[in-house]
Amino acid sequence: MAVKVFARNYGTADLTAVLHPYLQVVNYAPFTLLPSAVPRALFEQAYAVQQDFNLLVDAVSQNKEFLEQTLASTIKVDDFTARLFRIYKQVLEEGLAQTVVLGINRSDYMFDCGLEGTAALRQIEINTIAASFGGLTSRTADVHRLVLNVLGKSEEASQLLPNNPAKGLALGIAKAWELYGSQRAVVMFLVEEVQRNIFDQRCIEIELWNRNIRVVRKRFRDVFEQGSLDASRRLYMDGQEVAVVYYREGYVPQVYDEQNWEARLLLERSRAVKCPDIATQLAGTKKVQQELSRQGTLEKLLPGHPETIARIRATFAGLYSLDEGEEGDRIAATAIADPDRFVLKPQREGGGNNLYGEELREVLERIKDSPERTSYILMDKIKPQPALNYLLRAHSPLQVSECISELGIFGVYVRQGRELVLNQAAGHLLRTKAIEPADGGGAAGVAVLDTPYLV
Ligand code: ADP
Ligand code: MG
Ligand code: MG
Repeated sequence: MAVKVFARNYGTADLTAVLHPYLQVVNYAPFTLLPSAVPRALFEQAYAVQQDFNLLVDAVSQNKEFLEQTLASTIKVDDFTARLFRIYKQVLEEGLAQTVVLGINRSDYMFDCGLEGTAALRQIEINTIAASFGGLTSRTADVHRLVLNVLGKSEEASQLLPNNPAKGLALGIAKAWELYGSQRAVVMFLVEEVQRNIFDQRCIEIELWNRNIRVVRKRFRDVFEQGSLDASRRLYMDGQEVAVVYYREGYVPQVYDEQNWEARLLLERSRAVKCPDIATQLAGTKKVQQELSRQGTLEKLLPGHPETIARIRATFAGLYSLDEGEEGDRIAATAIADPDRFVLKPQREGGGNNLYGEELREVLERIKDSPERTSYILMDKIKPQPALNYLLRAHSPLQVSECISELGIFGVYVRQGRELVLNQAAGHLLRTKAIEPADGGGAAGVAVLDTPYLV
């Protein structure tokens, strides 16, 4: 359509008319007008612990006993996690064809405001599948630099840090592609049916094309229709070999019908480097996060790494199991009595699933004596100091809001057999949202892109 438009040389008015439907469906990603202050020491702490988290995720993904024990109660009640777990078991029983491992994750933090007014870095979660905004955020520092310059704040503008996660993530994908060892093979981005975040993904894709690596974009449906394995379980899409499958889809139950589950199984059985493989996706569940915070768990997973463990543990917030038994009963009762201290989290990704305040109390009251309770975990609610900013969203009125921010650090690692050949932090992401005026916390709007201004 677009080509035709230009080939036929429309006038401006005609062009607007022809493009109108497209202008409606393409929006800019929302962003803050101004960068937000981030304590330098906490920013540096978050970067410094990223390689440790890469190691940890990689260790968890290789520890069958730990995954089995940790998820045992969850998979009894959570069908989605159970289905993922079944595929995990199935590919292990068959024997893994994949020998190169590629992990791309994003560890997210908030700055908890302590009693003496000093802030502490607290991990919210780690995303091991489809961690997004590494592309778009590679552009946000430029936007904020421009805004500060326009405001006459050129000194401040010059202090904004360069940041290019797209490049770092592409480096990991390229390394995995290279180790897979077939010049003709492509990288496949597994994308959504309705592509809401395509430009974010394109930033990474372009980095790969610039390295002469071919990229194709496919949906689960395409894999079902065109995918096949050869005798050594090499993956082919309509005759084209795939070296790396980069999932930007597949983390919510709604996308999986029976065909898509079959497609997922095909991918997991294949020799292609999955980013992430299904074990690594399971390593990113909220239940695993909660068990990692249990006394002694990190020591078992990372023996001989006391400093790594100390750095990781220093970022943990209070996390609590709701498994059946006395420990779960006690914390459930505490949360019902004082819901504002906690966040209730199911095993879901992508935002909008957590429960707070009154809703947390109601749900927990209802499920406190049912096995359903174990599909959730409880977490201490982090309470950052709000700051003022403008959130710029298409079609929304401009107004100043009280905001809180969440800092994400991208991590990338590549392992070949037992040897870790790449382990890096790949850049950062700052997202900022308005707080709810009523309870001073909770998830009001969805967060928008921001840039840290270190103080
Ligand atoms: P998801 O995997 O859906 O992104 P998160 O654990 O990141 O789940 O929670 C979604 C959002 O909820 C976070 O981006 C954050 O704004 C808020 N949130 C999550 N955990 C906490 C917490 N412990 N304290 C305060 N806010 C939280
Ligand atoms: Mg998540
Ligand atoms: Mg999150």
